[in-house]
Amino acid sequence: MSLELRKTFQFEAAHLLPKLPQHHKCRRLHGHSFQVELVIQGECDPDLGWVMDYADLSAAFKPLLKQLDHYYLNDIEGLENPTSENIAIWIWDRIMPELPLLTEIVVAETCTARAIYRGASPANYQD
Ligand SMILES: [Zn+2]
Repeated sequence: MSLELRKTFQFEAAHLLPKLPQHHKCRRLHGHSFQVELVIQGECDPDLGWVMDYADLSAAFKPLLKQLDHYYLNDIEGLENPTSENIAIWIWDRIMPELPLLTEIVVAETCTARAIYRGASPANYQD
């Protein structure tokens, strides 16, 4: 039986979007309380009754969280244009080797705006 798990993390960070025109509000330096949701899909172990340990999700994301939390995102290699979309892809590329069951990453920069990325992973391949 296949089930989906979702775990949410939060980090605070500053950014600006350098490719936008000067008058756009997102071109100015500002910050967000970003929320990141990691989604995995897998078989439920009939004995343990779970797909995987949420602690393993946290452990896989921890090194990335440390790079993001309370930093100026534009300074991070690969995040020179730190849109929510690019942050989701950046996280995906780095965490995928640790989480082969990963199917989706959600990055929310406000309560009402979020980007969802479903990259290539074994769990996303349809048989
Ligand atoms: Zn912003």
